[in-house]
Amino acid sequence: MAIRCGVLPLYLSRTAPKSCHHCGKPTLSHVSLISHALCCKFIDYGPVFRHNELRDAVARVLRRHGFSCTVEPRYFSKYYTDGVQHRPDLVVTSLAQPIATDFSVNAQQKDQPGVAAAASASTKIKTHRVAVESAGATFIPFCLEAHGYCDNSAKRFVAHVVETRPKFEAAQIYRDVFQRQTVSATLCRARVKAVISACLHQDDFEADGGLERGEGIGQYEGLAA
Ligand SMILES: [Zn+2]
Repeated sequence: MAIRCGVLPLYLSRTAPKSCHHCGKPTLSHVSLISHALCCKFIDYGPVFRHNELRDAVARVLRRHGFSCTVEPRYFSKYYTDGVQHRPDLVVTSLAQPIATDFSVNAQQKDQPGVAAAASASTKIKTHRVAVESAGATFIPFCLEAHGYCDNSAKRFVAHVVETRPKFEAAQIYRDVFQRQTVSATLCRARVKAVISACLHQDDFEADGGLERGEGIGQYEGLAA
């Protein structure tokens, strides 16, 4: 909640840097420091980390519910016609028609939640849909924003994956993907890690135990929401 409100807890605000430790960009207020932390590509727990955590978390929860998933499938690459060896992030194969997706967690545009995620979904459809459909699968993007906004594309992807399951089970899977330990928890954890990383030098962060040992979220409780 603190991050979403642009506020740093006291213990971090005392030492909040005036510029990003990783790229040097000036961050003159806590709001700009937090915004920058959620999109800086040079930060230790930045966009690539967040994207991969999300991809793996969604694959994990779908597998737990009995779906077969392949992460970063190479199979589709030959169907792209732009000369780039694209790979969707994930394909759910245990369906009459496999469904592939590509994840993005975009920086939220100022006062315009949803705009960045919708634009990303549209770009992903242009990049992947024709190739994936040529291979006999369906493509639905999975686009979010770092502050937590969820584009309809992500909801559509999960709704399509679960549509042949009984209603009560489909609702349970949907909840598990979005609310329990998957999308919301992954984004929350990534926000906390990125902001702490932006505020502390890596050495300080590691000396503090990072967030790898499980106790970290409690230690930084004020940020976790
Ligand atoms: Zn930076």
